Formats: sequence, C-alpha cells, structure tokens
Amino acid sequence: MSNAPRSPKEARRLERLKGGSRAARDVHPARPRPHRPPPVLGSIGQAAASDEPTVVLSRRAVDRLDQGHVWIYRSDVAAPAALAGGEVVRLADERGWFVGKAFYGAQSQIAVRLLTREDEPIDDTFFLRRLTQAAALREMASPDPERRRAQRLVHGEADLLPGLVVDRYADCLSVQTLIEATDARRELLATLLHQLLQPRAIVERNDVRVRAHEGLPQRKGMFKGDPPGPVEFLEGEVRLAADLLQGQKTGAFLDQAENRVEAGRYARGRALDCFSYGGAFALQLAGRAEKVTAVDISEEAVAQGREAAARNGARNVEFVVANAFDLLREESEKGEHYDTIVLDPPAFAKGKSSIDAALRGYKEINLRAFHLLNAGGVLVTCSCSFHIDDAQFEKVVLSAARDAKRNVQVIERRGAARDHPTLLGVPETRYLKCLILRAL
Ligand code: SAH
Repeated sequence: MSNAPRSPKEARRLERLKGGSRAARDVHPARPRPHRPPPVLGSIGQAAASDEPTVVLSRRAVDRLDQGHVWIYRSDVAAPAALAGGEVVRLADERGWFVGKAFYGAQSQIAVRLLTREDEPIDDTFFLRRLTQAAALREMASPDPERRRAQRLVHGEADLLPGLVVDRYADCLSVQTLIEATDARRELLATLLHQLLQPRAIVERNDVRVRAHEGLPQRKGMFKGDPPGPVEFLEGEVRLAADLLQGQKTGAFLDQAENRVEAGRYARGRALDCFSYGGAFALQLAGRAEKVTAVDISEEAVAQGREAAARNGARNVEFVVANAFDLLREESEKGEHYDTIVLDPPAFAKGKSSIDAALRGYKEINLRAFHLLNAGGVLVTCSCSFHIDDAQFEKVVLSAARDAKRNVQVIERRGAARDHPTLLGVPETRYLKCLILRAL
C-alpha cells in the first residue's frame, strides 16, 4: 500500500510524523484518512458515529478555529441542554459538518476548548499521546538537562491539553486541573503521568483562584506518593528548593527560569531585585554583582530567600521585607543609585477592568528604576499580565524612560522560558514579557 499523501493536509501530517518522535511512533502512520464525516442533520446531540454529544458552532466560531484559536465563547455555541460540563463533545458547523473535538465547560464563559481537529477517539491513549508529546518537547528544548531539573512539562492549551498544568521538580510532579473536564479526569491524568514518568510523588495544587470561574473547589494534597518536602534543583549554577505543597504557584515561578539565568549575565555593581519572592533572580545576580538587595512584601518569601542564599553560600545578598513601591520611592528620594535592577511584579492587571490601574503601576516602578540606574545600568523589567500585550508594555516603559529623561537601549526582548510554549493564533498563551534594557 502506498504511503503517498492523498491531500495537502495528509502531506502535512506525514511531514509532522516523519520526525520519528516518541509521540509519532504511537500514531499509526498509514492510518487511512476517513472522508470527512457526513453532516448529522436533524440529529444534533446524538451523532450517529459516536456517543459524544454534538455542539454546534456559529460561523464566527468556526472562523476563529480556522485562525488557529482553540477557545470558543458561550455566545457562539448551541449545546444540548443536557450537558453538565466536563464532557468531550463533537464540534459541528451550522450545516452539521465535523469541525473537531473539544472539552465542554458549563460554567466558564469559554464553553469550548479544542482538543483536536481530527475525528479521533478521545480516550486514555489520546491523553497519553498528548502527554508524551509534551514531554518530548521539553527533552528537545532543554538546553542543559542537569541544570534544568525543574520545568513545566505540560502548559495547558499550548500543549493541546487545555486546563492541565504539570510542573516537574527533579523526581516530583505538581499538577493543576483548572477546568471541569480536566478536573473530572484528574485521577486518570495522574495515573497516566505516573505511567509515563514514574515520579516519586505527584502533588495536587488545585488551590488557585481561576478554578472558581469553573465552579471548582480549592483543593491541595497528594495524587501519588508521600508529601515530598522541599525539592532541590539547579537553575543555572544556583541551587533552589521548591516546597511543592506550600510554595506560591506550583512551588516556583518556572516561566522566568531562563530570564533569571540571562539576567545574571548582565549583573554588576550594586543590584536591586524587586518582587523577589524566594530570591531566584537575586541569587543569579549575586554571581556577578558586588551586592544585591532583594525586596518582597511577604515575610515568608523573604525567609525562603534567606534560606536559599545560605544554601548557595551567597553572602552578598540582603533580603528586605518591604513594599517595593515604597522602597523604590524612598531610595530615589535619598538619591541612591544602582547598576542592575530587576522588576518582576505580580500581574497588576487581573482583568480587563484593571488595565489602566495596572499601566499606572508599571509606569511608576519603571520610572523609579530609571531614576535609580547609574549611566550604563541594566534594567530587567517584566510583566506577566496577559491583558497587557508586548506593545502596551513597551509603550509604558518608554513613557517612564522619557519622564526620567533617559535614553534606553533594548538588549533583549524575551518571553517565558521555552518549556512554556505559546500557540500561534492564541495570543492568550503569550502572557510574560521581559525586557533587558540599558539606560544611557
Ligand atoms: N521574581 C520572583 C517571582 C515574583 S512573584 C521569582 O523570579 O521567583 C511576585 C512577588 O511579588 C511575590 O513574591 C509577592 O509576594 C511579591 N509582591 C506583591 N506585591 C508586592 C509589593 N507591593 N512589594 C513587594 N513585593 C510584592
């Protein structure tokens, strides 16, 4: 039987499979491509070919999927009234043609999250294949596995596993099931992860606010194994530890891992790390700077930072519990100066309604930073608000530079680490901005 592609789409699929990834081996390469399933007119909700309910998409929704997006809002779908939320559904256009398969949500405004554009079974094998695919990217992209023992293994939508986040810390995993459909399958997903990676422990970190939009309770505990205690790992040359059960997020802010190592390369002289959490930026800066001051409003974070400094024998880092806004103002009023400054605040814009206030916040801290920087000083400035895009962020940083009467060079425009891929056509997956600047 010939393997020659029968359509441009088939050709693209074969091309994808040719790489011989672990994921590819699981897919039957010559699986005969069925014709596009016929419309199931008049029987929406009971598609003949499967027992999955059918959700009909508006034309606008089909266009959105065609543009590469994977989310469809409730106003663009007609779903059978009997759906409880959390089901896998078939998607059809208004004429009944198959469009894809998706997770259905009954609570969130995002009613549909696409899983696949193919007519394929969504079963254990499907999820295992997606997890394998996600793990394969990290193996491929990890620059130095020894120094990258903490990483995001599954990044939700961007790994075509909507509503699932998995972080790996050495031999332990931390899992979040953020939507009804992944929450309903959380035991299955934990079992598949165990099968794939045999971790020592799998922690559940479902104590996050976004779950409230899905009508899901806050939950934290163990899926597999015993509570692992603090797990140590290397980031560059710095030895960090994450408490998978008690730390913020899943233990550490892994999206900034590569930016922290990079920031360390530019550090010198007197350095200031604002919003330092456990001091992960500060410790990278400490390798080259003479002295580092790390500031966080949380006593717990600062205590963790001091422990981390001790673990690394870094005697040139001082940790301060303070509001970074106040500290930046006071330092600037005292006429202090720094050679290296990092600004890594929490997301100031939590929703569309707070964008203006957030922009004022970013403006203020960046303006203070430009006042504090010596000539030739480096500013690493970040925003993780996904309601503020690259252009808006750059505009606010420019406006701060102009108010401070500084000329500023852009050395690097960075985003989240490569284990947090973004999906083309889904701008929401690109939330982290990191500019490395030099003020002249
Ligand atoms: N830079 C850190 C992550 C920062 S997360 C890293 O790379 O690991 C944001 C941190 O800002 C949190 O630790 C939070 O406690 C702290 N924070 C929030 N508001 C603050 C404020 N007004 N002043 C100082 N720290 C603040």
